Amino acid sequence: MWYTFSQNNSGGYYIENDYVGSILFIEALNQNEANDKMWAIVEDYSEWCPCCGERWDTPWGDDDEGTETPERYGKKLIGITTIKGLQDFMSWFGETMVFYFLDGSRMIVSIQNKKLSVRKISVDGVETQSDEATGFLSIK
Ligand SMILES: [Zn+2]
Repeated sequence: MWYTFSQNNSGGYYIENDYVGSILFIEALNQNEANDKMWAIVEDYSEWCPCCGERWDTPWGDDDEGTETPERYGKKLIGITTIKGLQDFMSWFGETMVFYFLDGSRMIVSIQNKKLSVRKISVDGVETQSDEATGFLSIK
């Protein structure tokens, strides 16, 4: 199942790179495992300021069922076909989403200057580039 973690832009900015984005989607067997994976992933990317609150959180507790495909706030990623639609999905000026698959690979989806970039990195660190975010997106 897929579990979604939205980054709080503590301090007025997101930390976005090859490991974390404004949204993290983590595939896991259950919420508890997803939470553990998330905390390990964000360990080096979690600074926050007291007035804005912590950057990362597990708002769904330990036993949320997750979803069959990545979603956020009840909206599925599948079916989004435009960069505008994807930008709306990300919202709040985030540019990057990172997907972590069960097999240890990850996919980095970014929109910069209205251009979509999709990179896949295998568990061995081998990178491939793609025009499509396989399985989840069909951006025209
Ligand atoms: Zn602040």
